[in-house]
Amino acid sequence: MTTTATISKANNPLLQGSGLPPFADIKPEHVVPAIKELIDQLDAELTKLETTVEPTWTGLVEPLEKISERLTWTWGAVSHLMGVKNSNELREAYETVQPLVVQFSNKLSQSQPIYKAFKALRNLHTWTTLEPAQQRIVDSAIRDAELSGVGLEGEAKERFNAIQMELAELSTKFSNHVLDATKAYKLKLTNKDEVEGLPPSLLSLAAQVARAGGDENATPSDGPWVITLDFPSYGPFMQHSTRRDLREKLYKVYITRAADGDLDNNPLIERILELRLELATLLGYKNYAEVSLASKMAPNVEAVEKLLEELRSASYDAAVKELEELKAFAASQSAAEANDLKHWDITFWAERQREAKFNFTQEELRPYFPLPQVLDGLFGLVKRLFGVTVTPADGQAPIWQEDVRYFQIADDTGASIAYFYLDPYSRPAEKRGGAWMDTCVNRAKLFENGTSSTRLPVAYLVCNQTPPIDGKPSLMTFNEVETLFHEFGHGLHHMLTKVDYVSAAGINNVEWDAVELPSQFMENWCYERPTLFGMAKHYETGEILPEHYYQKLLAAKNYMSGSGMLRQIHFSIVDLELHNSYRPGSSETASDVRKRLAETTTVIPPLPEDAFLCAFSHIFSGGYASGYYSYKWAEVLSADAFAAFEEVGLDNETAVKDTGKLYRETVLALGGSKHPMEVFKNFRGREPSTEPLLRHNGLAVA
Ligand SMILES: [Zn+2]
Repeated sequence: MTTTATISKANNPLLQGSGLPPFADIKPEHVVPAIKELIDQLDAELTKLETTVEPTWTGLVEPLEKISERLTWTWGAVSHLMGVKNSNELREAYETVQPLVVQFSNKLSQSQPIYKAFKALRNLHTWTTLEPAQQRIVDSAIRDAELSGVGLEGEAKERFNAIQMELAELSTKFSNHVLDATKAYKLKLTNKDEVEGLPPSLLSLAAQVARAGGDENATPSDGPWVITLDFPSYGPFMQHSTRRDLREKLYKVYITRAADGDLDNNPLIERILELRLELATLLGYKNYAEVSLASKMAPNVEAVEKLLEELRSASYDAAVKELEELKAFAASQSAAEANDLKHWDITFWAERQREAKFNFTQEELRPYFPLPQVLDGLFGLVKRLFGVTVTPADGQAPIWQEDVRYFQIADDTGASIAYFYLDPYSRPAEKRGGAWMDTCVNRAKLFENGTSSTRLPVAYLVCNQTPPIDGKPSLMTFNEVETLFHEFGHGLHHMLTKVDYVSAAGINNVEWDAVELPSQFMENWCYERPTLFGMAKHYETGEILPEHYYQKLLAAKNYMSGSGMLRQIHFSIVDLELHNSYRPGSSETASDVRKRLAETTTVIPPLPEDAFLCAFSHIFSGGYASGYYSYKWAEVLSADAFAAFEEVGLDNETAVKDTGKLYRETVLALGGSKHPMEVFKNFRGREPSTEPLLRHNGLAVA
């Protein structure tokens, strides 16, 4: 407690408010006093702005952006450290002040005077003097405020708030039920013949779970072993267990999670859908799908349905064929069930067939992908496509860990245009898993003391790959290479923006069904010959990746792609229908809807007891309600964008450069300043087509 007392406003690094966060100086004990002080200040400023606000750009948007930027500067640094330098102290501090931040953010987005000023700004004659980017920022602000209920008054407003409250509770309850149901089940195995086929990693995990459950002497080799419904346990078991009876048993428990008794999610589903429909009606929409799409790139439900149907009809026949092939393969392995593969056989045989067909592991490729070479390849690619040069700038920025690198991006005149951090290695003790891009500094035009300057964007790129060990560099799997390219694509979106208004620079104000376009676009290049062979060289011998590996990578990419695509389409269509035409309380239940739609979106129909919806957390407790289609929507965009390069010829360097320049000036430069459909059309000259995605997946257009 003494440390807290000695922290004053002046020496709290989290209150610096501009520039790069001084990571070396920030300590967990700075968080609580900084946030309390900051929220106090910003709260006072917001209250003042609410009384003095004018419906002009400088009297409304600029002061508002200043407030939210200050919050983002401090809270962004704290959140970043939560991801990369976590500790009990930091977590505790974060949890202490998080409610304050949420409360203030709500106040900011639901302010009546601010909302009214935005509306007035749009109705004034000066509206037309604003640039399109400014107009879009205002339009988005009004839309978001209205979706959060600001436009409602009296009884409608009260009802809206009550619905929001109940929905939040139901969503938490829903995910708790899934969690509890998942945890409740354990399959304890004691005989060696029950674990036949399981890989060593799963045996270790299963023995560890057994030990945690009281079997203190459990070992990976002699058991007992406990299999659970957690995916790291369930998934590999279904892939590898040779015991068909146990696979069936486990599968049937898995598909009925949270579907009866105390943990039954069925009534919650009906209630959630009912409330969402009522909420949509209050906001003046026909149904919840319309509410969801109001802030997305997809113009309407029909457009989403059309896209999904194109993908469905193309993947359905392929999925049927893949099942036939799988049956033939199982027959060739003398499987008794070959002619009657059930749900619990598919994953198992698909994995056997994969092993037989491709016969290589992720591990084998590691020596060909040392991080420094992969970075050279990646930086060479962005130079080739976009004319920008990436150079190390280590030492020019404060870092949070010694392995963190800092880079500069310069344009073709040599002028600096952006910077980024790269934190590549896994540190399980303090770093969150997965990979991500986050914004550190947004691009903006600043006016100070009569002069204007451009603040350059800075990105965080965070991965979780193997650190250098025993003098070897970090050796990456091909998946890790793809992930790095993916995150770098998000980074380019943030860093190569030419928008000077913070609220629409880079990824800001980009609709979320469009935000994965630049990231998935970059993944395509990992399979492009010059890019791949330019970086894939054995780290010791310099040997170039053997051709047969390349062919296997290409083939493995499309392995059972029809079934994979159809599965995603099934989820998307069910989600959309439940939020579009479904009416809770009618004779058809949500589960009936799913069964009806399964007729055309699954090859083996779900079992009668299948309660998949009861565990569909994405749409009932995540943010994906009527938005699950976004995965496919963005993939269509990114594949079509890559196809622009294929069309001009990937071996025609001049044409690739020209196309790269156009891509940079549209997709990467315009950020959220224009509607994503306009941005896409600026680049492609037409609306997106599903043909390239289908072709890249080895699926013919139906
Ligand atoms: Zn992404």
